[in-house]
Amino acid sequence: MTEPVFPPSGDMLLRDATLPGSLLDGPQPELLRGDLLIQNGRIAAIGPALTASVPAVDLDGGMVWPGFVDLHTHLDKGHTWPRASNTEGTHMAAVQAVMADRQANWSAEDVATRMDFALRCAYAHGTVAIRTHLDSFGPQLDISWPVFRQMRADWAGRIALQAVALVQLDAYGSDFVEDMADVVAESGGLIGGSGALQPNASALIRRIFDLAVDRDLDVDLHTDESGDPNARTLALIAEETIRRGWQGRVTCGHCCSLAIQDPRYAREVIARVAAAGINVVSLPMVNLYLQGRKPGTPTWRGITLLHELRDAGVKVAVASDNTRDPFYGFGDLDMAEVFRESVRIGHLDLPVGNWPRAMTSIPAEIMKLPAGRLRVGAVADLVLFRARDWSELLSRTQTRRIVLREGRVLDAELPDYRELDHLFPAAQTEGEAA
Ligand SMILES: [Zn+2]
Repeated sequence: MTEPVFPPSGDMLLRDATLPGSLLDGPQPELLRGDLLIQNGRIAAIGPALTASVPAVDLDGGMVWPGFVDLHTHLDKGHTWPRASNTEGTHMAAVQAVMADRQANWSAEDVATRMDFALRCAYAHGTVAIRTHLDSFGPQLDISWPVFRQMRADWAGRIALQAVALVQLDAYGSDFVEDMADVVAESGGLIGGSGALQPNASALIRRIFDLAVDRDLDVDLHTDESGDPNARTLALIAEETIRRGWQGRVTCGHCCSLAIQDPRYAREVIARVAAAGINVVSLPMVNLYLQGRKPGTPTWRGITLLHELRDAGVKVAVASDNTRDPFYGFGDLDMAEVFRESVRIGHLDLPVGNWPRAMTSIPAEIMKLPAGRLRVGAVADLVLFRARDWSELLSRTQTRRIVLREGRVLDAELPDYRELDHLFPAAQTEGEAA
């Protein structure tokens, strides 16, 4: 087999590509064959049998996607597993392990080193934009946000970055959140939080919206990330979103408990979420890892009602979440892996339909970025697979992809884990042969 040769200028005709129809404009079949003309770093034309006086590259039916958009990550927590594992695999154990690691280790240098490592992984895999949550309580606010702002500047033009301030919902009962919201506003970030079912949840959610409306901030909340059928946070957020007129500006992550609630109640909540214009982001790999964790065999998949939310008109995105930290022991910020695994976990096939939008155009809309679509005029940030159809794409790990940035082949390698060894001196010496 001959590998395609790409011209260094980036001006070329990509011949015989397979395109997911949902990522093009207008009604399209699920997959279609066609050519893409790339000129001056942008898609200049899409269509059958194009001609142009530029070098042609025959993709032989290989699939072409736009660069990935990862709506929900934790770049500050990532790659801590060697020193902060999750001994029980539960959500509660993860919270405690991260808290201990944060207090002991999260200096600006530590956070920056791991964040940069994670971004290089995502970049090599073909991701063009990432929203990350940042643990922001107490002294961490003044450590992680300056690191993030520097990282966002350093990575401008490669990965567009957004950040959300993450604190436990309880923190919204204290005055600390005023300072936090100021930092978020000055940094162009979003306000967020995470919490389990609690009696004063309504008041705490009202406070979040007080701060958001006051400072004109979008909201992104970890919502009902539990197996508790009595969880009510999603419904409360929907009501508050409508009351404040914040439709379209609120994203709720996880929403796991929706899947195990009374179907009639769940239908009512979904209708309210749709009416509130709330976006939902599901994190299937992490939900599968954490939810229902108990000794023995797990009996539920942990994900929210992806199909029902989408069918009700809710913008549903799918994202990475954690990587090699107590909330998820694996992961590499590879959205091709997220897509493949999500299809399996959530039955997003038969047909795959418009689910490719959940990691491209929908999160781009939510992040208000002009990315995630195959359209004339779009920047030619593309991911090229050898796979020609869903069966080939989803059956094999897609390590042989080619990433184009502004039409040029990206020469970026995945960083080596050994780069991080100095962050784990204790873990390194453990288990060495005597
Ligand atoms: Zn998360």
